[in-house]
Amino acid sequence: MPKRDNITDVFVIGGGVNGCGIARDAIGRGYSVFLAEMGDLASGTSSAATKLIHGGLRYLEYYEFRLVHEALAEREILWAMAPHIIWPMRFVLPHHKGLRPAWFLRLGLFVYDHLGARKLLPPTRTIDLRSDPIGRPLKAGYSKAFEYSDCWVDDARLVALTARDAADRGAIIQTRTKVIGATRENGIWTIKLQNLDTNLKGSVKARLLVNAAGPWVDDVIRQALGQNEAHHVRLVKGSHIVVRKLYEHDRAYFFQNKDGRIIFAIPYERDFTLIGTTDQDFTGDPHGIRISDEEQAYLLAAASEYFEKPVTVADIVWSYAGVRPLYDDHASKAQEATRDYVIRTEGDPTSGAVINVFGGKLTTHRRLSEEVLGHIEKLLGARGKPWTKGSKLPGGEFGPREFDVQVDRLNELYPSLPDRLLRRLARQFGTRAATLLGAARRMEDLGEVFGADLTRREVDYLVENEWARTAEDILWRRTKLGLRVGLNDKARLETYLASRSSKGKK
Ligand code: FAD
Repeated sequence: MPKRDNITDVFVIGGGVNGCGIARDAIGRGYSVFLAEMGDLASGTSSAATKLIHGGLRYLEYYEFRLVHEALAEREILWAMAPHIIWPMRFVLPHHKGLRPAWFLRLGLFVYDHLGARKLLPPTRTIDLRSDPIGRPLKAGYSKAFEYSDCWVDDARLVALTARDAADRGAIIQTRTKVIGATRENGIWTIKLQNLDTNLKGSVKARLLVNAAGPWVDDVIRQALGQNEAHHVRLVKGSHIVVRKLYEHDRAYFFQNKDGRIIFAIPYERDFTLIGTTDQDFTGDPHGIRISDEEQAYLLAAASEYFEKPVTVADIVWSYAGVRPLYDDHASKAQEATRDYVIRTEGDPTSGAVINVFGGKLTTHRRLSEEVLGHIEKLLGARGKPWTKGSKLPGGEFGPREFDVQVDRLNELYPSLPDRLLRRLARQFGTRAATLLGAARRMEDLGEVFGADLTRREVDYLVENEWARTAEDILWRRTKLGLRVGLNDKARLETYLASRSSKGKK
């Protein structure tokens, strides 16, 4: 790892949505930026979400008006910023006799429709489930539902594209690089790093440290900064299951459960339905956490309460789990803990300052980054103005309603390539899909196929442009082709990646 003698303005710990968002905003305002991520980008919580850009309807029940207001307004801003990986979705909330009354749901949705800026997303409507085809997959007892708007996001790609944009603007992004210590002298931090692939150690000097380590934020304060008494986050585990597609239409369902919690059933990756999430307090290291049998049973039972055809273990094709790094507001139940974020600065420019980030959501990461930048400006002096509202992420340089135009354009440019592949690439890479495909005209021009429609050309692009190193990075975070690629193909991909990286080292 190269040792850098020059002093970076802002050193960010953590390559999740918040760390990458802060790095992007800071480099765009003229600070020099170095970001270290110990695993892959989005390998923590930021790839384990329900993947909604939403105001959070149920947070209204906990009077989180500030958060809901801010999050609602972010929906259309983020959709415009990355219309390839973020798009509107309609949510169907069936009224369940014996649970929240219909007038209560309608009131909540009225507030939801009017609390945040909503120009393009359609408002709430009432549905008669007995006559509307949307009611068909549900049990006959459900007669009335409300349909409202939020957005969907590919969470892991949001992180990769945010990092890409930060790097395009000059930020240094190093993955597989853990911060193992940080000391300050005369206002300058020396940050000790270890490359977890090679075990090589090095250090970087910086004026300011931003701790955006998500679930590990307290660990960084304790282990890297040496403050033993840090207990600011409450870790709340959430798990999801992916099942074979349960219905044909494009709406998501929002189901209320008898315990007061809610779950979603969402159309996922064309052929699947995503069901989640659970809410359970968690202690320990979140690395490699998995859904428990109890959570799996809870999700299957909750979905089967609504769907005509029961959802069973046999339907499950994949599951994932993550932990929410929530700011600990000492709420009694996990689902009641605040989803809002808290930013705390410790120290000053003469002694060396650290900004700790607690909590936050995918939806509010841009606003959280702006708030962190407010702290950075106080410490280092202002350089540029807020700029990310109205900006574009790589590949998102088209209008929010122009996705199909992008697909048509690709079909015109590449008439011999399968429409299904072009549509997937347009979703993942937006306008950069054409950069990836270049002069290729036929499938054979894209090189070896590693299962499904994953080609060598795409793999090379992801390694060269998006920090992908392993089959896991490619199959589960840069794409979701893990749902379609078998073990033999995965092994071939691993062999290819290994040969590629050993060539790179020569
Ligand atoms: P992370 O993504 O965890 O990133 C922190 C990173 O820091 C990690 O990648 C980690 O490897 C790295 N790191 C830690 N220590 C070190 C170190 N010493 N050196 C270097 N790197 C280090 N939000 C929404 O808006 N919509 C949703 O639908 C939604 N659903 C959710 C569902 C679930 C089940 C969960 C768990 C969360 C959900 N969220 C949702 C919340 C959202 O996913 C998180 O708030 C967000 O991803 C947190 O991002 P982060 O960057 O703070 O943390």
